[in-house]
Amino acid sequence: MVTIKCHECDKELNISNDSIKGEIVTCPDCGSDFEIVSIENDKVELKPAEKVGEDWGE
Ligand SMILES: [Zn+2]
Repeated sequence: MVTIKCHECDKELNISNDSIKGEIVTCPDCGSDFEIVSIENDKVELKPAEKVGEDWGE
């Protein structure tokens, strides 16, 4: 398990070691989506996920 803080709210996110690059992680607290940019051993890097194809019916 890898732990990283949410970029938005500083909540600690637990990321499984089975996770792979490109996987989307959602913060349970603020609901922000992050994409795993890189993951190796106990180090993980996230970037804000692009909101693609989501239509909130504006
Ligand atoms: Zn958050």
